[in-house]
Amino acid sequence: MPLLDVHNLSKIYEGKVSIHALNHIRFAVEKGEFVGIMGPSGSGKTTLLNVIATIDEPTSGQVMISGRDPNLLDRTEKALFRRKELGFVFQHFNLLDTLTVEENVVLPLTLSSSSVPEMEQRLAEVASRLGITELLHKRTYEISGGQMQRVAIARAMIHRPSLILADEPTGSLDSKASEQVMGLLAEVNEAEGATVLMVTHDAVAASFCHRVIFIKDGRFHSEMYRGSSRAAFFQNIIDMLSVLGGAGHDLSAIRL
Ligand code: ADP
Ligand code: MG
Repeated sequence: MPLLDVHNLSKIYEGKVSIHALNHIRFAVEKGEFVGIMGPSGSGKTTLLNVIATIDEPTSGQVMISGRDPNLLDRTEKALFRRKELGFVFQHFNLLDTLTVEENVVLPLTLSSSSVPEMEQRLAEVASRLGITELLHKRTYEISGGQMQRVAIARAMIHRPSLILADEPTGSLDSKASEQVMGLLAEVNEAEGATVLMVTHDAVAASFCHRVIFIKDGRFHSEMYRGSSRAAFFQNIIDMLSVLGGAGHDLSAIRL
């Protein structure tokens, strides 16, 4: 059984003109996989992530996570499911700036029933893995963007979620910080067997994935596996993006 099974998923935003953001999309992600989602601006990437995250509801079709359909849960159960089973990484980090780095990272654990020694041990483990041990007592405004994203990844994984969802995690970083963050995310994926689903328009970031799924107009378009060479994979991704068109710049998001 795959860890994530997206089955015939459709999402229609009803309005004066209804928008088919997702169109019978289907794919599966195995436990421990690191999968990228790419596609032109407006192709439904964020909608897809939000539906998988139970933040948004599908119009039809199904999302199964570890054999369960979170959309069948009531609101309270859904919130609990999200907190326990999912970890989130966003473009703009979404750290709480009234808290220290340490307080931000342990937040998902304080909501669970972990004991203090358990929390401390896990914190030390995760901080060391992401190279943020020295930063734990700083405030979020005292650290760089790359460091903030490492903190956000630590927070996303500290409770060992079934699935880590990342939407443009390198979107606010320069290329050096991006590569460092992606290297760490790949390491977390490997060392902890964490399953990661990441939306990105950055071909370098995507080249760290095992597999990239391309979507267009809310539909599955194609997919590519990395194989042994990240450089060759990067080139193949660039080629596919030029076939898909509209990638790279988000100017098409500005429309009348
Ligand atoms: P991407 O992340 O690939 O750029 P989105 O998932 O944000 O694409 O959007 C897919 C389509 O759905 C776009 O046409 C967008 O305008 C539309 N859309 C996204 N969110 C909403 C919403 N809350 N209400 C109406 N339309 C939306
Ligand atoms: Mg988006």
